[in-house]
Amino acid sequence: MTIVIAHRGASGYLPEHTLSAAALAYGMGADFIEQDIVLSKDDIPIVLHDIHLDQVTDVANVFPDRRRGDGRWYARDFELKELKQLCVHERGYPDGSGPIFTQRFPYTRGHFQIPTLQEEIDIIQGLNHSTGGNVGIYTEIKKPAWHNKEGADVTLRTINVLHQNNYKTDLDNIYLQCFDSQELKRIKYELKSELPLIQLIGKNSWDESPNDFEQMVTEKGCRDIAQYAVGIGPAMDLLYTTSVLNNSITSSGLMRFAKNHDLLVHPFTFRVDSLPLSFQNYEEMVQWFVGELKVDGLFTDFVDQTIALIKDN
Ligand code: CA
Repeated sequence: MTIVIAHRGASGYLPEHTLSAAALAYGMGADFIEQDIVLSKDDIPIVLHDIHLDQVTDVANVFPDRRRGDGRWYARDFELKELKQLCVHERGYPDGSGPIFTQRFPYTRGHFQIPTLQEEIDIIQGLNHSTGGNVGIYTEIKKPAWHNKEGADVTLRTINVLHQNNYKTDLDNIYLQCFDSQELKRIKYELKSELPLIQLIGKNSWDESPNDFEQMVTEKGCRDIAQYAVGIGPAMDLLYTTSVLNNSITSSGLMRFAKNHDLLVHPFTFRVDSLPLSFQNYEEMVQWFVGELKVDGLFTDFVDQTIALIKDN
């Protein structure tokens, strides 16, 4: 049974991390819906992928004078009531030149707001009540070291909201994810949380966290992760290699290392409109990961199409 995680909601169809995108992902049958969390100036956990506001909102028009020296607008510089004045739109380029995915939701249409974590939980738990469903949340703590430098504890604030909503243990239909292994260890050993933790694994070039991700994708790396986490969320291309001779796909070994240490494997991000070169089409890609590699779950922008393919397996 492969779980389908709605990456930033149904972000292939609606602006990411809006309540509309969460509701649509729910209706499409997602098993879990993802929230990325950063803190507002008044320390409220909000659902937003970046520490910056400029790629997904009209902040440059509403608060033109509030950018920092680097030319970017930071969510941390705005109180929630100010953030609520912003219109969220489809993800665009940082220079404001337009949408990254032109076939997705129209860039200039709609009236969407940045939700708080609480508002998103209200939607998901409310729908669980009204439909009799049991959809989970899959929450990511974004850039804890950066928040710490800003004098903010994003982890503590997030866990407080989760606990208030009865997400406390691995029985509560939640995963808590982070790229920063130090922060995951802090959650487990210092904050004594029983929430099931997922170690995200990216590329060192992304500058996501102080971790050495190349070390994590080894046997020893997986053994270390299994001490504090229940699973890994690797970038999908860390799980395979492509032969230049005949273009065939083979497992990189990471799946085996993870399974040697009983770790769940939830790769990201499955996008119909952004295929890695190694795969001919979306169906072939899903088939390889689910049918051959047998991942435990996957993050996708396209919940409906992914579920349709998995059902055929
Ligand atoms: Ca995320």
